[in-house]
Amino acid sequence: MDNGNTENSARIDPVRLGYSSRFQFKCHPGVSCFTLCFRGIDILLTPYDIIQLKTRLGLPSGDFLSIYTEPHLLEKTDLPMVTLKQLDDEHASCPFVRDTGCIVYADRPTACRYYPLGVAALQHKEGADDDGFFFFVHEPHCKGFDEACDWTVADWRRDQGVDLRDTINAEWTDLVVRKRSFPANIKLTEQAKQMFFMVSYDIDKFRRFVFESSFLERMPMDADTLEQLRLDDVALLQFGLRWFKEVLFKQNDPHLQAAAGGPARDL
Ligand code: SF4
Repeated sequence: MDNGNTENSARIDPVRLGYSSRFQFKCHPGVSCFTLCFRGIDILLTPYDIIQLKTRLGLPSGDFLSIYTEPHLLEKTDLPMVTLKQLDDEHASCPFVRDTGCIVYADRPTACRYYPLGVAALQHKEGADDDGFFFFVHEPHCKGFDEACDWTVADWRRDQGVDLRDTINAEWTDLVVRKRSFPANIKLTEQAKQMFFMVSYDIDKFRRFVFESSFLERMPMDADTLEQLRLDDVALLQFGLRWFKEVLFKQNDPHLQAAAGGPARDL
């Protein structure tokens, strides 16, 4: 998986692409396959995807998860993930596609933005010694590759806004990648998986956990930080992921461990 979409009929081109790799692609209402995209394909949702979509739809995160997502366990990490729930129609269509296009286009998931690229690891940090690891995902009916519009992978990511989203999701991808390197015999408890799920995907529930449990008694914060966590989903997400990572990887931060009610064995 690791590419943000678990393909069914889509073909993965086994060629590694880097940020400077070039390709030709354009999707627009004039292509004959417009609105046929992502049929029968599991679209992995990142934490920021969920914040954007639930905000767009005016739903609490718990309702969004119930109505629009399917839970999974990500192979090799044993961590819970969520994908967009396909419609129960003959095409297993995306719930947001209409004849006129995507009704959540400005807030569409990261995997939709990446297409026709996939990402080979849930780690997208650009750096001097990191040329990324991308590949093509070919949906068989897709005519976008025939359109004369040239990109580098780096330009495509910028144009589609995935560089910004990957930055916001960086703590989450780092957590998932690091958990994947755990020996297979080290398993998380159900409680730890539920905590990962809540912090990563159910941000409104995590806010209630922070503000309506004894959490803050064990982790006092200044008023400005509290106000930010109360109002800003992204700030709360990033705080939650940093906290969960400290606890999970036993990084011995006494402040964060106190907030967790003890060291990582509690997970
Ligand atoms: S969310 Fe929008 S862009 Fe993504 S598959 Fe559905 S309709 Fe297409």
